[in-house]
Amino acid sequence: MELMFSFTTIENYHAFLKETPDGCLQAVRYYLARIADHASLNAYLEVFSEEAEARAAELDKARQAGAPMEALHGVVIALKDVIAYKGHTLSAGSKMLEGFTSLFNATAVDRLLAEGAIIIGRNNCDEFAMGSTNENSAYGLVRNALDPNRVPGGSSGGSAVAVQADLCMLSLGSDTGGSVRQPADFCGIIGYKPTYGAISRYGLVAYGSSLDQIGIFGKVIEDVARVLAVIGGPDDYDSTALSNKLAINIPSLDPSNIRPPRVAYFREAIAHPSLDPEIRYTLQKFIDTLQQDGAVVEAVPFDLLDFIVPAYYVLSTAEASSNLSRYDGVKYGHQSQTPPESLDAFYKANRSSGFGREVQRRILLGTFVLSAGYYDAYFTKAQQVRKLLVDKTNEVFQGYDALILPTAPTPAFPLGSGSDDPIALYLADIYTVFANLTGLPGISLPLFQHTNGMPFGLQVLSDRGTDSALLQLSFNWLSRYRA
Ligand code: GLN
Repeated sequence: MELMFSFTTIENYHAFLKETPDGCLQAVRYYLARIADHASLNAYLEVFSEEAEARAAELDKARQAGAPMEALHGVVIALKDVIAYKGHTLSAGSKMLEGFTSLFNATAVDRLLAEGAIIIGRNNCDEFAMGSTNENSAYGLVRNALDPNRVPGGSSGGSAVAVQADLCMLSLGSDTGGSVRQPADFCGIIGYKPTYGAISRYGLVAYGSSLDQIGIFGKVIEDVARVLAVIGGPDDYDSTALSNKLAINIPSLDPSNIRPPRVAYFREAIAHPSLDPEIRYTLQKFIDTLQQDGAVVEAVPFDLLDFIVPAYYVLSTAEASSNLSRYDGVKYGHQSQTPPESLDAFYKANRSSGFGREVQRRILLGTFVLSAGYYDAYFTKAQQVRKLLVDKTNEVFQGYDALILPTAPTPAFPLGSGSDDPIALYLADIYTVFANLTGLPGISLPLFQHTNGMPFGLQVLSDRGTDSALLQLSFNWLSRYRA
């Protein structure tokens, strides 16, 4: 039986709940049925069926008893398997953490629950969030719902597909170098990474701590803004969280919001040889359209493009090699069954059999760039590049409201096609890692369609802390230009 439920926005859903005494339960049952029907996509590692139904029934009861609806009352949300949810398995897509149960909630999860959200399950992802295709998960690959033979992107592939295929209302992912924006681009949905520090990282499995942010997948900007307004803000458990909560307005079609923006772009980014010609042409046409509609859109010179990916892979792997040193298999997580001959051999056996190939590659890379003889040649150099990039953003945002870029050089590609060439996959992060290295907020907007049938997005960045304005601009552009 096809259950009758359809979700558009949280606002409409809340209007429906006012009329429907068992509305939350209807919503949860609808998603549970769809998740079961779409199991072959492998977007969920675990579905909290009974728990989600019980929570829905509780929320319905509270509403019937006259309690006011919280900001995310009954909103059905899925979590990438790197976000801690107390009493639930947290595996980071890795065998290393197989069977590990979280002892506490991530701050973001605490805040979701306090505002009435229903957490429906745990999404598949690349192991320790390392990857761009979701083929690095120890629990199998994830398929793109628009073409099951193509990748959904990564590393938050499961969370992107969960929203894309209507298997939840919204989901949380994490973005260290593009892992929310790029899968959103490949799946035809919205993927938003806030300003670094806007959302607490407490309870997020660390990859590269100076780059990591929790991000949000959704189908409409208003809902993404609502979730940000709930989960963002300072947190005593994360010293890198911003000390002031960003004021987030829920975007709307208020004509006073439609001031023509000042937009910058990097000609070098659009001319880059790795960019699919059709994406290049579409972006050039989009720039023309914006100009015709009164926006100021100007090219800003940028000569650092080819340094971004190397700097990112030096810094992110250096941080990862340190962050992942805690997984030794002693107190928790995977333990090798081979009897160890020494303590070192014990660590080695646990880590060699617990971590997958890509994670091992990155730990080795990170250890190498931090080693005494190479520290200055790699790590220090990459920090210097990072500083130049930050300087560049300060210059750009003095004159412009937004910077537009492609999200990825190509649309979603066939499964298996990138797996034998890790460097080629790293290079495909060329457009997304900039925002992480500089701490800027960034969003991928599902505006375009490739002739191969796959969607692709426009990436929009704005200055640190201007997330509310970025979401309003995104709202305006999606309302006006979405095909
Ligand atoms: N593709 C990038 C990487 O593999 C981004 C990962 C991420 O943002 N978590 O590192």
